[in-house]
Amino acid sequence: MKILKFGGTSVGSAERLRALAELIEDGDAKIVVLSAMSGTTNALVEITEALYAQDAVKAKGLTEALERKYRDVAAQLYGTEKALAKGLELIEAVFERLRSFALGKFGPDGERDILSQGELLSTAMFHYYLEEINVDSVLLPALDFMRLDAKDEPDMGFIETHAVDELAKYPGKRLFITQGYICRNASGEVDNLKRGGSDYTATILGAAIRAEEIQIWTDIDGMHNNDPRVVENTRPIAELSFDEAAELAYFGAKILHPTCIFPAQTRNIPVRLLNTLQPEARGTLITERSAGDDIKAVAAKDGITAIKIKSGRMLLAYGFLRAVFEIFERYKTPIDMIATSEVAVSLTIDNTRNLDAIVAELKGFCRVEVDKGLSIVCVVGSFTAEKEGYALKIFEALKNIPIRMISYGGSENNVSVLVETKLKRDALLALNKGLFLAGTSGALG
Ligand code: ADP
Ligand code: ASP
Ligand code: MG
Repeated sequence: MKILKFGGTSVGSAERLRALAELIEDGDAKIVVLSAMSGTTNALVEITEALYAQDAVKAKGLTEALERKYRDVAAQLYGTEKALAKGLELIEAVFERLRSFALGKFGPDGERDILSQGELLSTAMFHYYLEEINVDSVLLPALDFMRLDAKDEPDMGFIETHAVDELAKYPGKRLFITQGYICRNASGEVDNLKRGGSDYTATILGAAIRAEEIQIWTDIDGMHNNDPRVVENTRPIAELSFDEAAELAYFGAKILHPTCIFPAQTRNIPVRLLNTLQPEARGTLITERSAGDDIKAVAAKDGITAIKIKSGRMLLAYGFLRAVFEIFERYKTPIDMIATSEVAVSLTIDNTRNLDAIVAELKGFCRVEVDKGLSIVCVVGSFTAEKEGYALKIFEALKNIPIRMISYGGSENNVSVLVETKLKRDALLALNKGLFLAGTSGALG
């Protein structure tokens, strides 16, 4: 069994949904994980923001515009009265539900319910289309098996048992469709895997059923060696190791959800990144094996805050770092980068929800400076300790960019630098020129 995940663009119109039906119809057993149609989750987020702001008029306008879009897609997608009626009935029910939230008090439960509707719509609409063209498929409700534990991590035990049980209900069936992104939390409420989470659904499900391969189909021909939204002349990378891909995903390569590599890596299931707009392109194959020692790619993560902690007694005071880390642990705030000296430690975070409380506690035993508006620029590859010259190449490329912090040696796959976000583009361009283009460079915009 393979898992094939299709992102927003791949299901973004009637034409794309038709092309998708052709792409998956090769008779092989598979589970197809779908995102919401492109633009939908953003529109749903806007609706929830309007509802939080108690702006019923705005929420109504946004809901109506989205409903029109879905009615148009249904009209273009279905060729028979029967399928069209089914599609329109579904759309009516979903949008009636969205409108109902304007009537009462609005909170996180309502928000999570609204955000789940995009994937529920795309999967059911596609399932009706397959039915119409006589392709046998089963619509599996992700809410029956995708579950988070009390720490908001995937509950792998639950998911494994329930996904396997669900599939066992349909002996002989070869094509299953399910929703990406949506799940239930430990209390059983509807929840989600955060933005871009359909990739994570695919790898969690792949690990749970021990799939032979996980394919992530999107709108580009694989993982590129730099951010194609910022830099021209980027190139797809044919092969990456799990560790390299995980670093790129975590440090900003939007093509993959930040933590989606982990489940595949745990069960050693190959992940292939493929392009629905160019299905014959080779894409990127991610396995446990690295394709040689080299610098493979660059990515950047914005929204970074640096916290500099100074204590004159730090070196002698063993237990100091533990005291610092305990505070971040208590406030459930992960640390991305860290650098230490004898008298100070600097670290970075991207989740600033509890920043004020963290700083207040740190100030109880040291001096603290906070710096916002930063980006981590991350160079990924296989940098074995025995091979020399990587640092020179990277820092030679970055020689005109002021660097706030450096992390080298934390893993064999990642060299990271911290820069002001306004210099991120320059840093990505400089690295492209210095590492990949040998002399020429191009910028977008
Ligand atoms: P989907 O909706 O299919 O999940 P995403 O928009 O989440 O697609 O991811 C695909 C996009 O990721 C590409 O269109 C590209 O602009 C962006 N991207 C950012 N960094 C990279 C990279 N290093 N390689 C490929 N794509 C990248
Ligand atoms: N629809 C969700 C989002 O836009 C999940 C996904 O597309 O992966 O973030
Ligand atoms: Mg995505």
